[in-house]
Amino acid sequence: MRLVGMLNPFSLAGSDIASPEQVEATLRELYSSKPHVMATLGIVLASQSAAWSGTGWAGLVATVVSVTCLILRIVLEYLYVRHAAVPVRDQWVLLFVLGSLLSGLGWGICGAVLLYEASATTQTITVGVACAIVQGAAGRAFMMPGTAFINIALVLGLMGSAASLDGNYVFIPACLLYYGFLSSFIVQMVKNRMQQLRAEDMSERLLKELIIKNDLLRVANDKLAETAFEDALTGLPNRRKFDAAFDEALRNAHGRQTSISLMMIDVDHFKLFNDTYGHQAGDRCLQALSKALNDVISASGLLARYGGEEFVAILPDHDQSNAFRVAEHARQAVQLTQIFDVEKSPPSQSVSIGLVSCMVINGVSRESILAAADAALYDAKQQGRNRVCLNQNLGAASANAA
Ligand code: GH3
Ligand code: MG
Ligand code: MG
Repeated sequence: MRLVGMLNPFSLAGSDIASPEQVEATLRELYSSKPHVMATLGIVLASQSAAWSGTGWAGLVATVVSVTCLILRIVLEYLYVRHAAVPVRDQWVLLFVLGSLLSGLGWGICGAVLLYEASATTQTITVGVACAIVQGAAGRAFMMPGTAFINIALVLGLMGSAASLDGNYVFIPACLLYYGFLSSFIVQMVKNRMQQLRAEDMSERLLKELIIKNDLLRVANDKLAETAFEDALTGLPNRRKFDAAFDEALRNAHGRQTSISLMMIDVDHFKLFNDTYGHQAGDRCLQALSKALNDVISASGLLARYGGEEFVAILPDHDQSNAFRVAEHARQAVQLTQIFDVEKSPPSQSVSIGLVSCMVINGVSRESILAAADAALYDAKQQGRNRVCLNQNLGAASANAA
């Protein structure tokens, strides 16, 4: 805050950096009438001393003025607490400045009348009380320094004038020295306040940045976790995902005593396709075939790329006949798939499928199911490819055991 800003009585220190809530909290603190209660008690004490030492009129004036100021400040605090809202409107700042300057004027009048022609005791008490009041005002001046400068100047100026009217000229330089001391104290307090507000502002901004970065990191992590389980070429779940999904499906089937089916799917004569049309064309073919397979299987279970030109599908809650229907449908879908973007490629490719269906009972392991599906796939290849072969051995074993 520059010096000019500090002298502006309507300017709250750091209001340009502070949040609306901080501004409101500062103004609520400024509106507090507690310091005025203490000031009034001190003035009433000095007034009592004046009454005892022959300047009762001064005591009466000071008491009336200070109590009036206190009532005014209590009313202002009440109005502020009841009606102010965030963000604070300028009217409340203006009202505070008026109230504060009236208090300064009131305290200055009290100090002046109590000093004028008073006994030494009353003067000592009055000066002590005045010092406490202006020191208190200076201690709170970091919030609104401009108003505090005027407020303190009013008190010290009126008291110094009254004392010099009384012939106590040394009061004027004493008041000026005191004012200078308080001014440098206020300037230092404002600097500290500004540093505090800047630090709070910075930490708030860093916190917001941290929250945004954390969100980005979470999204990136989710994406990473997704890709760790995804096959890059086909976009299907990869072998790792299949392993986890198969274990879970087996646990569910075991828990619910339902059957589960597994398909091993292998593209027929794919080496020949690669050798004839190139590896890149082979990649595009795999993409097209995996899409055709997934379009059929995704409604019933999970299709994953097992490796190379092999796929595997888990069909939970599927017995032999249901699973066979899905497998046959998938095989036909591949046959109907045209590999358009590979020049002179055959009109379609085919797959062989080994299928096994069973209940998950003791003695039926994931390895035995995979081996059974693999054996069925081998049979399909042996029998001429482009077909679904069912391995009934494992199914029969589980049926017998059940
Ligand atoms: P079969 O009918 O007996 O399965 O014959 P096949 O030619 O399909 O079987 P083989 O195991 O001899 O060849 C599989 C081929 O699949 C060999 C390999 O180059 C190819 N292949 C495996 N993964 C990929 C891939 O990601 N992209 C391409 N383009 N080719 C692949
Ligand atoms: Mg193969
Ligand atoms: Mg093959």
